[in-house]
Amino acid sequence: MTTPLLGQMMDVPLTVSSLIAHAARHFGDTEIVSRRIEGDVHRYTWRDCERRAKQLAQALIALGVQPGERVGTLAWNGYRHLEAYYGPTGFGAVCHTINPRLFPEQIAFIINHADDSYVLFDMTFAPLVDGLAPHCPKVRGWIALGDEACIAEHLSSMKTPVLSYETLLAAQDGEYTWPQLDERAASYLCYTSGTTGNPKGALYSHRSTVLHAYGASLPDAMGLSGRDAVLPVVPMFHVNAWGIPHATALTGAKLVFPGKDLDGKSLFELMEAERVTYSAGVPTVWLGLLNYVKEAGQRFSTLQRTVIGGSACPPAMLRTFEDVYNVEVIHAWGMTEMSPLGTLAKLTWEQSQRPPEAQRKLREKQGHVIYGVDMKIVGEDGRDLPWDGVAFGDLHVRGPWVIDRYFRKDDSPLINGWFPTGDVATIDRDGFLQITDRSKDVIKSGGEWISSIDIENVAIAHPAVAEAACIACSHPKWTERPLLVVVRRPDMNVARDELIAFYDGKVAKWWIPDDVAFVDELPHTATGKLQKLKLRELFRDYVLPSALAVDNCPLTDEETDKPRANPAPR
Ligand code: ADP
Repeated sequence: MTTPLLGQMMDVPLTVSSLIAHAARHFGDTEIVSRRIEGDVHRYTWRDCERRAKQLAQALIALGVQPGERVGTLAWNGYRHLEAYYGPTGFGAVCHTINPRLFPEQIAFIINHADDSYVLFDMTFAPLVDGLAPHCPKVRGWIALGDEACIAEHLSSMKTPVLSYETLLAAQDGEYTWPQLDERAASYLCYTSGTTGNPKGALYSHRSTVLHAYGASLPDAMGLSGRDAVLPVVPMFHVNAWGIPHATALTGAKLVFPGKDLDGKSLFELMEAERVTYSAGVPTVWLGLLNYVKEAGQRFSTLQRTVIGGSACPPAMLRTFEDVYNVEVIHAWGMTEMSPLGTLAKLTWEQSQRPPEAQRKLREKQGHVIYGVDMKIVGEDGRDLPWDGVAFGDLHVRGPWVIDRYFRKDDSPLINGWFPTGDVATIDRDGFLQITDRSKDVIKSGGEWISSIDIENVAIAHPAVAEAACIACSHPKWTERPLLVVVRRPDMNVARDELIAFYDGKVAKWWIPDDVAFVDELPHTATGKLQKLKLRELFRDYVLPSALAVDNCPLTDEETDKPRANPAPR
């Protein structure tokens, strides 16, 4: 074996502190604007942010936090949360963002599992912290994100002793040099939302965080730029706000943080006031924003692009943003275990020469992988399925920002070096991924799969439908049949038969829901996704009319207009 000829380039570790140092040094005057819990709007710059992140690092070190220890956060999107992203990680501790919308028992589980040393919290979460503290005895201190005056005003009835974040910072001078860390050291800890069982931890590294930030910023990925003013609606407690706090530091973009008010009016007003060009969030949030803008007869004067992900973006939403408001939608797919970005629906030059409707169809899918991530779909036998846009199977991924294993779990989740996502998908000839379901949400009718996402997308396109979920109901002949559960728009009416007729010609006849149930609201998870597990429980005893009259079942085999990898029901 000959020794390889090594390259002669600097071995600069890819660390999170290099991102904030870069932003402070090269985009030092660029603004970070936050709507605060205190009620006002706070402004400072990337330079100020780095200085305060250093003060936080000094304060945590003074409290005895060691490199490798976890520091938890329970906070909205705001500048202090951003400092908590960079302060602990800068000296080798781990920033553990906690989703406050989870059940308190799950939060306590997460804090204990992560072994958080200190937890930083926004004052709105004081009652939550009081409930958690007795169950989290190993937490050495709870740090309220505010000054003494604010704490005296808002937290006087708290049972738990708290420290003031501002007092801790004020005791430090910010004269601190970020240490050189191993790029493979842990940076952030994020837990999956745990819709089944206990949440699992994804422990990112400095290297994976920086590579993800590079990948996310690429023009054909999120396409962030120093020309953008970015308002992340996706919470910083949800997979690092999809990497936006890092990608904006890398590109020198302006950041605008909405705080706790995520209703349509609050978001719209902040977007207009701060001349926001770019935003990102889950479909539920955009539903609220679009409703507000429509009712108020408003237009976006600066917003150009928005990333939609976390759940499938309904085609009707994409069309409304683009055709009515001239805002480009970038549909994205990912997951906590992937830091989170995997694919984004951006077109190549060749694809953008196709007829407009063909382009739209492609962009409604979840898109193409970013360099760094690879993907494949496999059948039940584990063999690769063709990329024909028709065959669907389990989606597996791999790459430098995909987990290798879960935090504090010994067994590897990987299959032959690939991470099984739990999603079911097709991939077409263009390499565009389309998620058809979470594997546990798939509806199996007569041994054949029905995509609940496709069924929901059709319903949402109906003008009287505000939100829709499609779940499996048990059926004596076909094992499962789809039931559509619908929330109507206020002051609008639509009947069951009209909605069922609305499916004619839009999906294969045997995909059409057997029945429609109308409800006032649908259950959502802590991250704003439809909680299908809960919905299935609520409708567990529901009897479909077709189940009562099996002989009149509206299914016929020859109506399969979409050929599938599985055999058609017989
Ligand atoms: P995230 O925190 O990014 O939402 P989670 O780990 O909570 O990640 O959930 C990831 C899952 O969300 C994915 O496996 C997939 O089922 C679903 N998901 C994310 N983005 C999309 C999308 N654009 N379309 C359909 N499903 C999506």
